[in-house]
Amino acid sequence: MIDLKKLSRDELVALLAGIGQPAWQADEVRRFLFAKGVTSVASLTTLPKKARASLAARCDIAAPEVADRRTAPDGTVKLLLRFGDGAACETVLMPRGDRVTQCLSSQAGCPLGCVFCRTGELGLTRGLHWGEIVDQWLAARRELPRPARITNLVFMGMGEPLLNREALAEAVRFLTAADGGGIPRSRVTISTAGIVPGIDWLGAELPRVKLAVSLNAPEDALRSRLMPVNRKYPLRDLVAALRRYPAGRQPITIEYVLLGGVNDSPALARALARLLRGLPCKINLIPFNPHSGLPYAAPSEMAVLAFQERLKAAGYTAIIRRSQGAEIGAACGQLG
Ligand code: SAH
Ligand code: SF4
Repeated sequence: MIDLKKLSRDELVALLAGIGQPAWQADEVRRFLFAKGVTSVASLTTLPKKARASLAARCDIAAPEVADRRTAPDGTVKLLLRFGDGAACETVLMPRGDRVTQCLSSQAGCPLGCVFCRTGELGLTRGLHWGEIVDQWLAARRELPRPARITNLVFMGMGEPLLNREALAEAVRFLTAADGGGIPRSRVTISTAGIVPGIDWLGAELPRVKLAVSLNAPEDALRSRLMPVNRKYPLRDLVAALRRYPAGRQPITIEYVLLGGVNDSPALARALARLLRGLPCKINLIPFNPHSGLPYAAPSEMAVLAFQERLKAAGYTAIIRRSQGAEIGAACGQLG
């Protein structure tokens, strides 16, 4: 069986031409698949009955199974989606008043192995197809009472988005299109562990999306220990890529997970301030969310506040980001 959602537009045009359907039907079918979220060929009512019958003999529409759903007291919902081949990913929906943010996964698992991250521990199963990224949005949308809409997207779930670029680009194009997800580009954030060629690609390929970088340490030796990807793309190269990123009016978000006694000292706060000097950015400090089996601890409250104070004194906007959804394992770094 051919999964209709996996076909490019050109492939779909060719398939439909084979059963006597004009090219514009490809756009209609895609609208049914991705905007309406239909899950059976019989429901593609834009096509004549005969065309549907002949398609149904050869094609189907894959939809992931919602294998688990957890809701936290603050309204955060975590969904575990399982695809046909058994690969799974999580997505988190965070309704906060008018703003409804969805955290999307770009890969099932992650190959980068950051030592403090649960997804990193899992390793990579595979990259997600762009339609599977959109599937997460479709599944989350069903959780919302009408007329609520998802207003913001952050690629901060499982996986490294800049290692799955084609799928990322196609998904973002759809989710930000007026006849697709309808979410403005300025409300889409891509978070990367620091894939330097990917950052250059992003600036050229998806202008106006927001960039976030998981920095987590201002010195190479420490960063390489926490994030092995730093051996390939050390801080010098990474910060140079950030300085040439066409951020426009949107500052780059620097994410810094504070690990108790590891990267939360005042000296490192000063080093971070030096490293980022002159870069339009805002710094999000994320106290480590402990999870079983890892030898790291949450930072003390005093260390968090002192770290923030140093950055503020150096002129930065530094926000302490208390992760939401920790009680359902939906906080940063708990996915998997
Ligand atoms: N791979 C991308 C996208 C995932 S974002 C990236 O790393 O940027 C996941 C974010 O959660 C990253 O900023 C990461 O540093 C952070 N994180 C990972 N494990 C965490 C933990 N246990 N506690 C708090 N934050 C964590
Ligand atoms: Fe992968 Fe990001 Fe987790 Fe590192 S922090 S292992 S890059 S998901």
